[in-house]
Order: sequence, then structure tokens, then C-alpha cells
Amino acid sequence: MLPTLPFDPSHVLIGGTWRSTTDTLPLVNPSDGSTLCQIARSTEADVDAAVAAAQSALDGAWGRMSALERGRCLTRLGQLVLEHADLLTTLETLDVGKPVTQARADAIALARYCEFYGGAADKVHGETIPYLDGYTVYTLREPHGVTGHIVPWNYPMQIIGRSVGAALAMGNACVLKPAEDACLTALMYAHLAKEAGFPEGALNVVPGVGAEAGAALARHPGVQHLSFTGSVQTGKTIQKFAAENVVPVTLELGGKSPQIVFDDADIDAALPFLVNAGLQNAGQTCSAASRILIQRKIYDTVATRMAKAYRAKIIGPASSDPDIGPLISTRQKARFETLLEAAHDVPCIAETPIPKDLPPDGAYVQPRLYGPVPPDHPLAQDELFGPVQVLIPFDTEDEAIKIANGTIYGLVAGVWTDSGARQMRLAKALKTGQVFLNNYGAGGGVELPFGGIGKSGHGREKGFEALYGFSTLKTVAAKHG
Ligand code: NAD
Repeated sequence: MLPTLPFDPSHVLIGGTWRSTTDTLPLVNPSDGSTLCQIARSTEADVDAAVAAAQSALDGAWGRMSALERGRCLTRLGQLVLEHADLLTTLETLDVGKPVTQARADAIALARYCEFYGGAADKVHGETIPYLDGYTVYTLREPHGVTGHIVPWNYPMQIIGRSVGAALAMGNACVLKPAEDACLTALMYAHLAKEAGFPEGALNVVPGVGAEAGAALARHPGVQHLSFTGSVQTGKTIQKFAAENVVPVTLELGGKSPQIVFDDADIDAALPFLVNAGLQNAGQTCSAASRILIQRKIYDTVATRMAKAYRAKIIGPASSDPDIGPLISTRQKARFETLLEAAHDVPCIAETPIPKDLPPDGAYVQPRLYGPVPPDHPLAQDELFGPVQVLIPFDTEDEAIKIANGTIYGLVAGVWTDSGARQMRLAKALKTGQVFLNNYGAGGGVELPFGGIGKSGHGREKGFEALYGFSTLKTVAAKHG
């Protein structure tokens, strides 16, 4: 059951005021299929009002606020997030079906994003540029204006923290469209932002259906920058909308990320990262390590140990804090199971046992480990977005690089080897946005610029790099003789 909330979850937040909408949608708990509450089904008119409120904020108190004060608002918001971490954790557990420990880690990460961008807000400087005699030239970093944030359901708190947090730090006014499958922590974040002292209209939230509220936001001519995380297909649609309005867009579209284990690696150290980076959030992680490339000499050892770990994992309702909860919805479960039909001709070497007493209407699927899988097999190429990993043996370093780079994606890679020279070679050769050497960070790292190449998308969020993405550069050339 939903705890008592300090806001009405069926409302939108526009211009600092919670309002009802003409229609609502049910929000479902994926652990048992029950309806948690109704949420707003925002219309084009709601999105129009939210964009107008954001523009008014830029023309008013928010636009006049100093970088220092914006940073203070974010820092206060981080403190409020920490104070309400229990409630945020409960909401994410119920709404996303995310096990309690993983939901709490996301709440803490959200606070960390607020702290990081709160501290960074007044530390983004322009430059002075040597030019012709008699001139002084300098650059100014300025906000884009109204920024649109279309967020998925898998890591609402982390993605809001990195995208909205950086945009607010730079002085943009935000319109946030959370996913229809999970939007409670977005609403709670907006409630806390009001308490933290953000002026009205600096942050507006319009939950609703992607093809309705999401599309209305993405094609809105009053939006000057778009940030989207989600599927490749929807990302293409968003990019087309952005092209129509000639506005920049940041796309983070998932991946088929590899971890590569060489035969000189510390297998004990690697093992938890190999398994957990695939199963975290039931595999519904854009940077999930869904491919494990293993040098042939140690293939059997690593495969056996990973299989053992799979059999020991616990599946259950998210509030019982298992290792693996349900998928986000029965729709995603059906999609995942259809994609998994491709596995019929490769060996499944381990399954996590499914408890008999799981709620029958929960969106549970069975975690499975497959191997050996040919690198060009659909199971090793397509993003399943569920708790499945494939093991791929290789012989040489060159072969490992070729396999690792051999998908349409390029988000994250992990390399496990004792050889420093090999670490450096791989870090250069891998075509991804991030490379982890003897570790792997699926989703973490507030400070670390993050984003993809290829069909994983473009643009960077997290770290200082996001602040450059959420601002535009003006060059001022003064002729003074
Ligand atoms: P999606 O990309 O359709 O949805 C993500 C967000 O985009 C949601 O807020 C949704 O409301 C919005 N949206 C959907 N259609 C839109 C449109 N036409 N215009 C504007 N906004 C729109 O993802 P999904 O359907 O929920 O999941 C499908 C697949 O997407 C998953 O199986 C997975 O492969 C991928 N996915 C990736 C990530 C990631 O972190 N990269 C997150 C979620 C889903």
C-alpha cells in the first residue's frame, strides 16, 4: 500500500502549483500487479502550460538568481532528499519493483547529484581569448532556456538527479516528463524542490503517456534543449522532433555492454561485478554488463562460478529486499520473453530458482545464464533489458576487442587483467563512452561523464561535462582600442 504522501500523485506541478488534469492513469506495483494510485495523464495543454511557466521563471525570479543561490537551492534539496530517503526508497520499491537496498542506493545517489551540482553551480567559468590588438574577448556560459527531460522508469531518481540537477545548476528552467510506469519519486523530488526554495516554474512535472505528454514536450517550440533516456526507437523520434525545432538533444539509449576477463585477471575480485552488473535491477539497466567475454583458458572456471552465483540469487517481491525483483510491467515481461525465444539454440548453464509463492500477478521472469554464445547470435547482439547474460569465449586480445566492439551499441565496457599495458591498449581500443579497468560501474559514478556512441546515443550527462551540455557558450568581443 502507498504511504501517505505530501502531494496528490494524480496532480501535475506547473508554475509552483499542484493542479489536477482532465484524465488520469493507474500506476501499478509490478511486484503484485496491484494498483498503487492514479497519476496524471497530462495533455498537450498541460505541457503548453508547463513550458510557459518555465519561460516565466526564466523571465522572473529564477532567471535573476545568481549561480551561488542556485547552488544553494540544490544543496538544500540534497539535504531534504537525505532526510526523506526512507520515503523515496519505499516509493521506488513499490513503483519500480526495485529491491529495497537498490532503491535506497538510488535515493542516496539522488542526494549526491544534488550535492555535486549544488557545489558545481558557481564553478563553471568562461575563458578570455587572446585576439587582435585593441580587443578583449571572453566567453560566457549561459543556460539554454527551457529544457525538456523525458525520463524512463528503470532509474528515475538517478536519471532525474543527473539530468534535471545539471540543468538547474546552469540556470535552465525544466519541464520533466517522467515515465508512465514509474513517476512517484519524480513527484516527490518536485515537492522537495519547492521546499528547498526553487522559485515557481523553475521545475515543472507533467507525468503521462509517452506518445501524448512526451511527444508534446519533445516537439514544443518553446523548449530549447531535450534530454532523453530510453529506447533507441523513441530516441530516434525525439531526435526528429529536436531537428524540427533545431535544438540540441542528449540521447542515452542503452547498450549491450561487455566485461572482458583475461586469464591473468583476479577472478575473485571480478566475480561479483561480472554477475551483479548483469542482474542489478533485474537487468533493466542501460549499462548492464549483458555480455561477458572470457579468455578460453579460464572460460570453464568463470562460467562455473558465475553459474553457481546465479543459482544462489533470491527472487522476490521488491519490498522483501531480494537480489532480484520483478520487471517493471507485464508489458516489459512479454517483450523480454519474446526476445528470449532467440535463446532456443544456445546452452543455458544456470537459472535462478523461482519461488513457488511469488504473487501471481507480479512481472517476474527467470534469470538465466547462457554460454558459450556466438558473438553474432541475437542473444549477444540485442538489448533484452532483463536478467540474462551471455558468455563468449575468446583466444586473443585482438579477438576480444573485435567482439566487444561488434554491436550497434557503445556505452560501457569493463576489462579485467593484471597487465597495465593491456589495460591501456584496451582503454583506447574499446568504442564506448566509459571503460572500467578492474572494476565496473553499472549506473554509478555521479562525478563520471556518462553517455554513449553509436546507437547508445550521444551527449554526456553526469560530472562537470553535463554542465557544458546544459549550457550554451557566448563569445563577447570588445574593441576598445
Ligand atoms: P521508451 O523509450 O518508449 O520510454 C522512455 C520514456 O520516453 C518514457 O518517459 C516514455 O513515456 C517516453 N516516450 C515514449 N514514447 C515517446 C514519444 N513518442 N515521444 C516522447 N516521449 C516518449 O521505453 P519503454 O517502452 O518504456 O521500454 C522499451 C525498451 O526501451 C526497454 O525494453 C529497453 O530496451 C529500453 N529502455 C532503455 C532505457 C535506458 O536506460 N537506456 C530505459 C528504459 C527503457
